[in-house]
Amino acid sequence: MIITRIPPSPTGHLHIGTARTALFNYLFAKSQGGKMVFRSEDTDKTRSTKAFEEEIIEGLQWLGLNWDNDVIIRQSEHAPVYREYLEKIIANGNAYISKEESKNTPGLLVEVIRLKNPNKVITFNDLVRGDITFDTTELGDIVIARSIDDALYHFTVVVDDFLSDVTHVIRGEDHISNTPRQILIQEALGFERPLYAHLPLILASDRSKMSKRHGAVSLSSYKEAGYTKEAIINYLALLGWNPGTERELFTLTELISEFNIAHIQKSGAVFDIKKFNWFNHQYIERYSTEEFLAYLEQNFPTRLRELPNFSTERLLRLIPTIRERIDTLADFHDHTDLGEYDFAFAAPLDYEPTLLEWKNDTSPTVAKPRLEKASTLLTDADFSSPESIKATLWPYAEEVGKGELFWPLRIALSGRSQSPDPFTIAYIIGQEETLARIQNACDKIGE
Ligand code: GLU
Repeated sequence: MIITRIPPSPTGHLHIGTARTALFNYLFAKSQGGKMVFRSEDTDKTRSTKAFEEEIIEGLQWLGLNWDNDVIIRQSEHAPVYREYLEKIIANGNAYISKEESKNTPGLLVEVIRLKNPNKVITFNDLVRGDITFDTTELGDIVIARSIDDALYHFTVVVDDFLSDVTHVIRGEDHISNTPRQILIQEALGFERPLYAHLPLILASDRSKMSKRHGAVSLSSYKEAGYTKEAIINYLALLGWNPGTERELFTLTELISEFNIAHIQKSGAVFDIKKFNWFNHQYIERYSTEEFLAYLEQNFPTRLRELPNFSTERLLRLIPTIRERIDTLADFHDHTDLGEYDFAFAAPLDYEPTLLEWKNDTSPTVAKPRLEKASTLLTDADFSSPESIKATLWPYAEEVGKGELFWPLRIALSGRSQSPDPFTIAYIIGQEETLARIQNACDKIGE
């Protein structure tokens, strides 16, 4: 049975790179009818925290990347197991206790455990990069434990992978140089070598390694900005992997059936925020109105809710306008802060009557009779859709010039030079308020 593993260190927020590694391990295991094991590599006692561990666990579960071990494996709880294997590796002559001067306290003698390096050339076959060869001589006798009760990283990884029957180690390219060290330890303990696949680095647009200075790197910051888990999974899958076709949209289940380790690329995967936004837009575009409303309500701007005519009814009618314009919740908040949706919930609007001029030849005084006529037509109109409102006004607009009617009408209804078309606005705010706003515009002209 194929067994992969995701062993994050809980020393920071869940990084999108870790989420991608988890995804690839998950996809490979599930596509092969195998299993994935989760392990918390919390040996660094000063930097590991329970809070980070919880955030990592919750983040991966939120994405749907569930593992198959019921009980979380924690390296901090494994000291007795490591001790047993350290005793074994010393007993079989492949490691030894060495008395050395402490690096931190000069003059103090401490005991460390070193691997007896057989000084050999190791070649391992990487499923992404092909054969990789290292001469381990230069590594010397590596320290594998600070004491019999304090095994170090390379040793703990090897023991835990062995105990979990891991068959495939799929991890970031930054771990390539660790692999020969870990292979030496495996061989010294008589363990079978798992297969390796090292994933390309995630690069920023300037092709340097993606880091905080390029923007957000934690999963939670993307989640908060309103990236959906579907979009995150879909985009992360394509960061270093491709299906071999032009197809871009995949659900997690579809990825499981399409995933093929041979399609992982060697070269760095550039993180393109525009593309990521495009994916998110694709997913929120497919939401039903109810789903979209729930999406907005995850973090609904107080500014809109506090406007005098706020109602869910109007918000539902505004949804197509919002949906068309945003990629993320962050966009929704940005537009809201700029007052771009105020028209839907505002009280009578305040604006300069000169805005009612269209291309310099419709003065506010010319606009007034047009608005009055529109008002008469709209008194009998069907307000059930933007289209029915448009149909009511269309013949008159053709008669006087479309811009000359629709420009002042749009200003009258929105108070802004940039806004949705007047039919959409009229539909959102309803007949009564449409007529009131036109009246208000006409009054302004008279002032
Ligand atoms: N704990 C390591 C990390 O978070 C992973 C080690 C491994 O995959 O072997 O980078």
